[in-house]
Amino acid sequence: NARDILKNELREVLSKIRVSPDDDERDEPAADRPDFGALEVYYQPVHQAGKGYSVTGAEALVRWRHSQRGLLMPASFIPAAEEGGLIDALGFWVLREACTAACNWPENTFIAVNVSPSQLRRPNFVEEVRAVLQETRLSPSRLELELTESSLIEDYADIYSILKSLRSEGIQISLDDFGTGYSCLSHLTRFDVDRIKIDRSFVSLLGTKANGTAIVSAIISLSNSLGIATTAEGVETEYQRDFLAAMGCTDLQGYFFSKPVPLDELDCFRIPQRMD
Ligand code: C2E
Ligand code: CA
Ligand code: CA
Ligand code: CA
Repeated sequence: NARDILKNELREVLSKIRVSPDDDERDEPAADRPDFGALEVYYQPVHQAGKGYSVTGAEALVRWRHSQRGLLMPASFIPAAEEGGLIDALGFWVLREACTAACNWPENTFIAVNVSPSQLRRPNFVEEVRAVLQETRLSPSRLELELTESSLIEDYADIYSILKSLRSEGIQISLDDFGTGYSCLSHLTRFDVDRIKIDRSFVSLLGTKANGTAIVSAIISLSNSLGIATTAEGVETEYQRDFLAAMGCTDLQGYFFSKPVPLDELDCFRIPQRMD
């Protein structure tokens, strides 16, 4: 079956890279091992809402440059990775790549990394994140971990203490795809989060459906009154940008500003080079 083939190929790809703190960098792939390409991290800038729309940080988004199938998007292999028990290894690698990249960006910018529910349940997750920060020398306050609401539903007491220790290190916690899960408002009162990301499905309703507009403005005003930052995802039009900024949303992300790009095409953090 196709999913099983993908799992085995991904396992082979991951066997060639460093996927945990106590794992040495792997050897050059042996010539006789099959080659299914390599994982890559793309970065999508996040912009301040208003005041020149300057870049505040970027989100790391994984891609798989497959040797036969071309560039694969996460939707086509993350489910296989989760099912095959490979998502923790993949997530660790993305975290390390992203923190390494962010070290070269301005001090006041953040790097946001997606964390799967299974990673968060790892007994040593906090120690592993700390190890990456120490190795890359990235300030913890520049790292933002994006969790989905489904991470918060199970084992409420455990997750609460994990989030607490991450935050006590100075790491920022962001709630991804906000509004798509259930009991979302209770999550804001139970868990201290630094940011919520308003799902693209709501942003796309702005200006088309009165309900969508009401929901987005309610999320933003609630977050503002709780002191929680808000990033609107999937901002594709100038109208959406202006509307969200006027409503007091703090940050904006979407194709209107930039698509996710490979690190070498991410120009917003580059220190201008002299041309002579
Ligand atoms: P997400 O975390 O909600 O990421 C946002 C997705 O929306 C990205 O898709 C991004 O390319 C896309 N996007 C951004 N702006 C726009 C826009 O203006 N319009 C439209 N139509 N789309 C926009 P992508 O890169 O395909 O990633 C899909 C999902 O895969 C992510 O959704 C995230 O849940 C997951 N993912 C990506 N990288 C990782 C990772 O390293 N670890 C884990 N666990 N999940 C990841
Ligand atoms: Ca995300
Ligand atoms: Ca999201
Ligand atoms: Ca989303």
